[in-house]
Amino acid sequence: MNNRNEYTLYSPRYSLSERAKQTSSILRASSVVAYHLLRGSKEKFAASVEITDKCNAGCSFCYVYPSEWDQNERLGGYLQLSPSEHKLKEKNVYETLRRLKSRGVVHVTLVGGETALAPKAIRLASKLFPVVWVVTNGVVKLPRLPNSVTVFVSIDGPPDYHNKSRDPKGFYKNYSYNNLQGMSANIVRNINESERGAYVHITLSKPVIKKFSDTVDWLVKDVRKLRGIIVSGTATKDFEDPCTFSIEDRKDLKKLIESAAEKYGWKLFPFNQPKVNERLFDEKYIISNSSSCSVAQRVESLNYDGSNVGKCVLRDDTLCETCVCNISGLAQAINLVDIRTISGVLRATYG
Ligand code: SF4
Ligand code: SF4
Repeated sequence: MNNRNEYTLYSPRYSLSERAKQTSSILRASSVVAYHLLRGSKEKFAASVEITDKCNAGCSFCYVYPSEWDQNERLGGYLQLSPSEHKLKEKNVYETLRRLKSRGVVHVTLVGGETALAPKAIRLASKLFPVVWVVTNGVVKLPRLPNSVTVFVSIDGPPDYHNKSRDPKGFYKNYSYNNLQGMSANIVRNINESERGAYVHITLSKPVIKKFSDTVDWLVKDVRKLRGIIVSGTATKDFEDPCTFSIEDRKDLKKLIESAAEKYGWKLFPFNQPKVNERLFDEKYIISNSSSCSVAQRVESLNYDGSNVGKCVLRDDTLCETCVCNISGLAQAINLVDIRTISGVLRATYG
């Protein structure tokens, strides 16, 4: 905390030349984004790419694997390929990344599976694109990464809840770090021991909304290299799903973010500035279908095979009207040239 009681975010050190290099990459990417937005072009300048079909977690809500698959099966990859076939798949990933680069994409978000299991693809992406965001479950150490790469670790709630939700079979139950046990212990250790720290993306399902403040307090207390917190709610396939956010849930989460920002400072929530939260949670801005979603319009979502996975990374069968995905609100706030949001995003692009 600083003397105004605001939480002081971890900020990696860069040499002058590193900062100059990264600034010029960011300016290059920003000018491409601004060009497309100002011209209202239909070009997709960003992409989300699944760089591996393997994962070391067992999330019950996973949209990548069949729900009956356990962590062992997920570790093998969902096509259960032979090692040589997996090598071929790796090649496909590299080709996909190069193809995106040649089409003028400037920002890629790497997803999985678990991205830390595909470090070569991360390194290649960091050479090809000025801005690379890596989404990881944080369970294994990420390799040392170039400055163009920013890491986002996914968290579902407070430590015990997260362990149950992501590691139902207790693969990681014997791990410990400080006062933590299980998968969440590994995650905090990996962030604290990483070179440049990480952003944490909290995605809450309806039953955990009330645990939001506890989750933020935990992260602020235990994660020494915390660079910021991103907040989303889960999206579902139909309104009957008990996890679907109601209008009241949206209002509650918005208020909870506001009170956490009062407590720790708005800088802690770079992608949940007031304009984003208004677009994400207010009833009048609920997105009715993908044709009115900036993410679907601007971001190409591909699997490790280079095939389109649908309107966005959440696949076609996710109902847009249930969506509380941060990026959908973030994209709208950027379109509206909200300076607070843009500066939060620029900060995050210094990987
Ligand atoms: S970490 Fe991601 S890919 Fe892995 S099981 Fe969980 S949701 Fe699925
Ligand atoms: S599910 Fe969400 S992110 Fe995907 S297209 Fe619909 S509103 Fe956009």
